[in-house]
Amino acid sequence: MRKITIAIDGFSSCGKSTLAKALAKQLGYIYGDSGAMYRAATLYFLDNDLDWNKELDVKLALKNIQIHFENIEGKNTTFLNGKNVEDDIRTMRVSDSVSPVATISTVRKRMVSLQQEMGKNGGIVMDGRDIGTVVFPNAELKLFITASADVRTQRRYEELLAKGWNVDYEEIKMNLLNRDHIDSTREDSPLKKAEDAVELDNSDLDEEEQLGVALGLVDALQKN
Ligand code: C5P
Repeated sequence: MRKITIAIDGFSSCGKSTLAKALAKQLGYIYGDSGAMYRAATLYFLDNDLDWNKELDVKLALKNIQIHFENIEGKNTTFLNGKNVEDDIRTMRVSDSVSPVATISTVRKRMVSLQQEMGKNGGIVMDGRDIGTVVFPNAELKLFITASADVRTQRRYEELLAKGWNVDYEEIKMNLLNRDHIDSTREDSPLKKAEDAVELDNSDLDEEEQLGVALGLVDALQKN
């Protein structure tokens, strides 16, 4: 069967990474977590006291940032300059700064080229905000996932609670809405549905049902 490219976009915590990971596993494809790259870059700025509003600091950061992924015990794991940062990049400290960092064009340019390199041979499912519009505009399948803000907040809340973190529901909701606003109003590559994307509202779907819908779309494509 030919290997296709699958782009999954949507607002924060809409379940796109859960779907992307499940699809990649089922199809034997690579999973690409583009958000983790912006998060890792943000961690670098924060840990090194660099200001993303200063051009020189951005240049310095981009010169020094190396991001790669490894599969550790079946889990896609993010590395920044050789260090496992998978947990650090999910903290509220990073979540609060990642969207401003992701508005910077030079940062985006670097991340997009990394993402395109990962997907150059197809057989990839990547999730993010601009995957169907900018990173893989020719992807054979594009999905745009939506769910209500409350459903999304609850999911994120439960995910962080499960890690044993002390989290506040309202703080998470504010963070999601704030990121959604910055992500969809920025000048460079704003979050929007690609014209040829299939919209999927998963508010009332569980993970398995959502995967079933997506696999149905992949099947239909393969038959064409
Ligand atoms: O997907 P995740 O929620 O981890 O993404 C974190 C942030 O990274 C988003 O809120 C957005 O600001 C940025 N991002 C982006 N473009 C992508 C993926 C993520 O701007 N393709």
